[in-house]
Amino acid sequence: MNLVPTRVQLNRPLPPLTYLAPEGLPAGVRVRVKVRNSLAVGLVMGPEPIPPAAKLRPIEAVLDPFPLLPPKLRELQAFAARYYGCLEAHLLPLSLPQAMLPHWEACQARKSGEADEAAQPLSFHRDRGAWQVLADLGEAWHREPSILPTLLHRAIRRGAGFTEVRLTGVPHPPRVTSAHAKVLLALEEAGGALMEPELLAAAGVGTSVLGTLEKRGLIARMKRVDLLAQRREAGTDRTVILNAEQRTALDAVALGDFGVHLLQGVTGSGKTEVYLALAERVLAAGRRVLWLVPEIGLTTSLLDRLEARFPGRVAVGHAGLNVGEKHGDVVRLLFNGPDLFVGVRNAVMAPLRDIGLIVVDEEQEGSYKSEEHPRINARDLAIKRAQLEGCPVVLGSATPSLESWYAAQCGRYQLLQLKQRPAGITLPTVEIVDLRDAYRQLRRKVIFAPPLLQALTETVARGEQSLLLLNRRGYENFWMCRACGKTLGCPHCAISLTYHRGDFRLRCHLCGHETAPPEACPECGADHLRGVGEGTEQVEEHLRQLFPAARILRLDRDTTRRRGSLEAGLLAAETGEVDILVGTQMLAKGHNFPRLTLVGVINADQGLKVADFRAGERTFQLLTQVAGRAGRADLPGRVILQTYSPDHPAINFALAQDFEGFAASELPFREGLGYPPYTALSLYRAEADTPQEARDALEAFRQRLTVPSLKVLGPLEAAVPRVRDQWRMHLLLKGSRGALGEVLARHPLDPTDLISLDRDPGQFG
Ligand code: ADP
Ligand code: ZN
Repeated sequence: MNLVPTRVQLNRPLPPLTYLAPEGLPAGVRVRVKVRNSLAVGLVMGPEPIPPAAKLRPIEAVLDPFPLLPPKLRELQAFAARYYGCLEAHLLPLSLPQAMLPHWEACQARKSGEADEAAQPLSFHRDRGAWQVLADLGEAWHREPSILPTLLHRAIRRGAGFTEVRLTGVPHPPRVTSAHAKVLLALEEAGGALMEPELLAAAGVGTSVLGTLEKRGLIARMKRVDLLAQRREAGTDRTVILNAEQRTALDAVALGDFGVHLLQGVTGSGKTEVYLALAERVLAAGRRVLWLVPEIGLTTSLLDRLEARFPGRVAVGHAGLNVGEKHGDVVRLLFNGPDLFVGVRNAVMAPLRDIGLIVVDEEQEGSYKSEEHPRINARDLAIKRAQLEGCPVVLGSATPSLESWYAAQCGRYQLLQLKQRPAGITLPTVEIVDLRDAYRQLRRKVIFAPPLLQALTETVARGEQSLLLLNRRGYENFWMCRACGKTLGCPHCAISLTYHRGDFRLRCHLCGHETAPPEACPECGADHLRGVGEGTEQVEEHLRQLFPAARILRLDRDTTRRRGSLEAGLLAAETGEVDILVGTQMLAKGHNFPRLTLVGVINADQGLKVADFRAGERTFQLLTQVAGRAGRADLPGRVILQTYSPDHPAINFALAQDFEGFAASELPFREGLGYPPYTALSLYRAEADTPQEARDALEAFRQRLTVPSLKVLGPLEAAVPRVRDQWRMHLLLKGSRGALGEVLARHPLDPTDLISLDRDPGQFG
């Protein structure tokens, strides 16, 4: 075998290392290599044209029968690594489950073991099951490609432990055996669900215990592969005949060619039917569909529709899937299993081959942008991926991001609009309640101003549903001492602690620090502590006092921590088991509550106070979204926005539900201040133990900058200057994409540096 210098990327913040590997070893296979004196897994990046002078070590073993990532995806990762200033190694976890990744610690831990490493196909104890499935399939495939589908089917059925055990929510009986208690506790701790082998290991019990619990209805066992099969029964496909606008949109998308299309239409205008019709054409042509959604919790009804339309051809991937599920899906993906893959942000890097269409639903959603390293934007990468794959990408929204809207205005994206009101839905009437008037009248601050209270009372009396939005969880926003003015803050972050009455805690919403509320002010000792600013928990309490007979459901991050509880709550609301829904923005999106006729926004300008040039845009989007929840043809909807700034354009255009008007008023402001979409932004973030260190690092970086035609702002304190004991400063660069890319090329960041880069930042906190 001819050994040649080959670049190998480890999953570490280091550039690739060079090893000797068999000639022709395809890029993308994993290999085991020695680093210093321990073993590590790495990914082959390709031959090294300029090998270092030092003596090279040969690799220890080749781990994969074929490259795990399709070539187009590797191109996308190379692009993303350059664009976002990270290593390709940082992007691998987005494409493969953790267990299949080059992993450093796992190998180091094993190095002391006496076992013969080379004899083992994979050096990770936890994941051998999934790996073995993959390796067996790969080998069989190489021997005999035609038997792959059979093998694959069998492997997924057998599932290497893909049975999931869930708590059913049946109330805990007063007495259970200790073995039962262990199982229930283990499930509870894991958030309600675990894969069977993990559960048995965690509880230290045998399978028979599960059988008994299942019979008593306390747990349910489900084969992962059956999850979608069960949906299939639930969803029935209504074949719809597309209307003229939908057909125009459908025909405007040239399959087989790269093109970006912006499909704009209010919720319910039939965008999904257009995606479905496009997907049908693509699948019929034998290519695949990548379908991105902002949040998986919102997709249940979409999954029903997809599975009904394309039975057995759909796979789902998202961060909430557990290890076994991910393996199942990835194994399928790697072997060209599903034809349509639905997922959230990271799915843009799913190892799907031969893509013929990419859908980005609700393209304006902030969740497409990662707020952790690597800070990718999945919507933007979806466009890049479509370009590499030579296929169309469809961005859909009722309220597109101003970036996409502007691109469509300039003709870079093709604008497709669905303007017809869908049958069965009427525009709700939207009213504004000026909270300043309410204050003048009542001489105190109220949560529900009289018009909202009256509307609530009437709606409850009519037996219809109301939804109240307040984008702040907890009981009181913070505690303050009336004697000395001190607010109780987090000791680790520069924000105040939020009071949660349910479990009597003061809690930091950034780092999770929590403490029992003190009796007296820790500063001055006075017992004048008082809570300021209401949260959803308090709104719920008021509602219970005002409407003791009403069925009230609160949905926010506190009440939906348990897996499946959000879905359960939404289902209860959909089926009319709830009279008043109260919650945060998770209620604003994509749900269909047939009996909902009143939407109340407790404080519409809450989001406007944020120091962020997108504050207006986000507020407009949220208000429009939540307003869209109210009313059907037979039950006209009413929306009440309580506000202190009734003249703000974001509120005014939301009142008129006029996206184009809002865009036209907002864009000149962006242009004037030099913000996207007129310039691109790179945010250099520094974090350090002291503010001075953070500032100095950025100042030094700024001094070094040699790229002309940039506007540089800062160093400035971040909106929250300290989080988890780290001080945070910002340096904001404005310029063209090209210039900002040039900065990155000329001044690459050292991963060990205090500074990290956030390109096209979504948040400035
Ligand atoms: P959107 O994705 O814009 O929110 P959907 O595609 O989900 O809209 O459509 C909303 C509802 O209207 C769905 O129940 C859908 O089946 C139905 N619908 C959409 N287009 C048509 C049509 N041309 N004929 C009949 N029903 C339609
Ligand atoms: Zn904190």
